[in-house]
Amino acid sequence: MDRRSFVKSLGIGAVAASTSLDKVDAAVAKPFEIVVVGGGFGGASIAKYLKLWGQANINVTLIDSVAAHVSCILSNLVLNNQKTLANLSFNLSKVAAKNHFTFRQGLVNKIDKAGKKVFAVAPDKTVFSVAYDKLVLSPGISFVFPTGMDPALPGATTPIPHAWKAGLQTANLRAQLRALPSDGSAVVVMTIPKAPYRCPPGPYERACLIADFMKRTKNGGKLIVFDANPGILAEPINFGKAFTQLYQNIIEYAPNHSVVSVSGTTQFATKSITVTNGTFSRSETCHLLNVIPNQIAPKLLFDAGLIDKVNGKQWAGVHLDTYQSLFNPHIYVIGDAHDSNQPKAGHIANSEAKVCADALLRVLGLLPPRVMPDEAPVTNSACYSPITATTASFLTAGYRFDPAQQLMVRIPEAFGEAETINGDNYKTMLAWANNLFADVF
Ligand SMILES: Cc1cc2nc3c(=O)[nH]c(=O)nc-3n(C[C@H](O)[C@H](O)[C@H](O)COP(=O)(O)OP(=O)(O)OC[C@H]3O[C@@H](n4cnc5c(N)ncnc54)[C@H](O)[C@@H]3O)c2cc1C
Repeated sequence: MDRRSFVKSLGIGAVAASTSLDKVDAAVAKPFEIVVVGGGFGGASIAKYLKLWGQANINVTLIDSVAAHVSCILSNLVLNNQKTLANLSFNLSKVAAKNHFTFRQGLVNKIDKAGKKVFAVAPDKTVFSVAYDKLVLSPGISFVFPTGMDPALPGATTPIPHAWKAGLQTANLRAQLRALPSDGSAVVVMTIPKAPYRCPPGPYERACLIADFMKRTKNGGKLIVFDANPGILAEPINFGKAFTQLYQNIIEYAPNHSVVSVSGTTQFATKSITVTNGTFSRSETCHLLNVIPNQIAPKLLFDAGLIDKVNGKQWAGVHLDTYQSLFNPHIYVIGDAHDSNQPKAGHIANSEAKVCADALLRVLGLLPPRVMPDEAPVTNSACYSPITATTASFLTAGYRFDPAQQLMVRIPEAFGEAETINGDNYKTMLAWANNLFADVF
């Protein structure tokens, strides 16, 4: 796309673009107001980099419904006691002070696109609004719950936790694991949603850690993994080996099985589940039921008209070289909530944040040299997967924007899973996560 058609695609006229470009020479008289919704891996990253690169020419306000973001990355290690939720919690006021942006706590429930304002409900229930020149959304995912799973129940005690947003449900799942019988009779069922969902290897990693925990502390038992997908979606060689060799007496892996309904009355009582493979249904009772529900973009994005519902889309449509919405030139969507063939993962959300910050600041005319955004930006992703309490595998992937297809295309030489499951990978995993956390928070 040449510069002229790029500007056109932004929905801003050439005059507007050149006016903002002129502002590079002198300091901008009035800073641009940028609002970021969501202080997780995408949102905290872009708030930091926008301010770092935009300096005094922009004000950045980050809004999140929680005071501290709890990282999903490494949260499976809370289950086997290797990490605590406190280790993975990042206070957003402190992150904002460190990175020179403003943090406001509130649940954003409305985007006024015409008035360029967002409305949010603060913890004390008061409503506030923040005006923007440009809005970046990184609110993550929402769930489509199966019959019998009640999202209104408190996360700390709900009988069937998903623990796919780290926090109280993670602690609940950990408590339920610890309460399993220790004589080898424990039955655990977990389910894997239909792709796309956040963190492709994450559910397989969780299955390994649960099996490892049962093997080491519960004298074994049975873990049935119902996968709605036709096979292991990420790191198939290493997870395949783990399922069929390391945990062959514990894990039963059942692909092509999706959840029909679940039931469970209290946290530590027996639960049940019915699944189907399209032809036959199967029911199981178990001590512990961990259902990871199907996932779609948060309602806020549907309500704001940022998703092509007519064509059945469930994620926000964006130009993949800038993350600018297909439906509004002043809104950008990064992280899990946008529609692309990139994995829904924290590492790549951090990468997308940098591509988006660079593009957005160029659109505002704030980054020299005066060229429009990179024609072929590159992103990369890494997911480290603990397989036991001391070993791990990993998956890495790189993507480059292809202007002809308007898609992020996987870079073949930058894709692959670890050659072996080993202890070095486990150590590198902890260093990798610390580096990522340091860059984001
Ligand atoms: C068990 C597990 C393991 C994982 N491991 C890895 C890994 O090894 N590597 C990897 O790269 N990724 C991993 N992931 C995936 C990663 O955590 C997500 O892909 C990543 O967090 C997505 O970033 P995001 O910014 O889109 O959303 P999030 O990081 O979820 O941030 C969203 C934020 O938005 C806030 N929010 C949402 N809606 C609103 C609203 N309406 N108003 C205000 N605030 C709002 C939320 O409170 C939250 O703080 C893992 C995930 C899980 C569950």
